Amino acid sequence: MRIVDIKERTISTGEKRSNAAMDFSDMTTGFVAVMTDVIRDGKPIVGYGFSGTGRYSQNAICRDRMIPRIFAADSDSLLNQAGDNLDPFKVWAAMMQKEKPAGHGDRAVATSTLDMAVWDAAAKIAGEPLYAFLAKNYGAGEWPDRVPVYVGGGYYAPGRGLPELQDEIRGHLDDGFTIVKMKIGGAPIEEDVRRLEAVLELVPSERLAVDANGRLSLKEALAYGKALAPYQLRWYEEPGYPLDFDLHAEVAKQYDSPLATGENLLSMWDAKNLLRYGGLRPDKDLLQFDCALSYGICEYLRTIEMVEQEGWSRRSIFPHGGHLLSLHITAGLGLGGTEAYPRTHQPVGGFTDGLEIADGFVGLPELPGLGFEGKANFYSVVSELA
Ligand SMILES: [Mg+2]
Repeated sequence: MRIVDIKERTISTGEKRSNAAMDFSDMTTGFVAVMTDVIRDGKPIVGYGFSGTGRYSQNAICRDRMIPRIFAADSDSLLNQAGDNLDPFKVWAAMMQKEKPAGHGDRAVATSTLDMAVWDAAAKIAGEPLYAFLAKNYGAGEWPDRVPVYVGGGYYAPGRGLPELQDEIRGHLDDGFTIVKMKIGGAPIEEDVRRLEAVLELVPSERLAVDANGRLSLKEALAYGKALAPYQLRWYEEPGYPLDFDLHAEVAKQYDSPLATGENLLSMWDAKNLLRYGGLRPDKDLLQFDCALSYGICEYLRTIEMVEQEGWSRRSIFPHGGHLLSLHITAGLGLGGTEAYPRTHQPVGGFTDGLEIADGFVGLPELPGLGFEGKANFYSVVSELA
């Protein structure tokens, strides 16, 4: 078998909303389709991938460097030992030839985009949902029926006051979510506390998380910590700049309730430095590395191994992103839970259509691969590629 073609496209996915650090009006998302010569039910198997949520399409890097390297490799050198399926680690190594170490950034997103499609194709060739393929080959061999899920929301938007914020939160609770996350740090602290109090009318504090998106200085992060402390929230996310590990260590010294961070660390090595120098506490804090932004599943498996070597549980990992990739790795690799973006970041946010969310848990899709064929708005974008 072999990869016969790789197609890609970028679409605009801009939305009129913002967090403390950025607005999403110019957002783009990249898609790829990895076409194989393996035929199932009369059709060739195609794997799909996308460039994650909250960062832009990096398909130019895919086009210029990663895709040509995949086709430059001998096609047999990309296969597993039996020669009947792709070996995603071999494809990953082919893509990453001639790249300098470190400097992780947009290249990590480009690699993830293609890596996701390769894993989607490999699981489809095996005839299994990705979580089952991962659990059998790289995990504990079993998987749950459903996994814990929380919803990311509570953004800032023009003309959006407390009633609109409360309406959104009510909608999430009606949808079956029990833990909700809202943005802070994009308004004066007194206003954010009013927003927080408005949401706490609907959600108990141990089920509310807040996210400053890395925007606060140390002084501001500590001031927010002081204001948030009495509420004993579920977690306080990305108080300061994602690579300022000293800031996180300082906040962790002074803020007793759980902290969460990691979505903007794009490699195993960056994650390792967070655990070494960020002062985080393995008994309570959350790690949110985003597989779709950080070199994909091949690198995520290395990150999980590192997390455990550093004395943490893989249950402390709650992948950021709110999409099918995060759901599959959570279920297949035994992580703590996943985020969901049911309405934002479309067409990649959220899971397959009609997948049950109830009591703070989400079920698992039964389609082979990631199940993109069961998400109509996503599939309408990628099916044109194949
Ligand atoms: Mg966040």
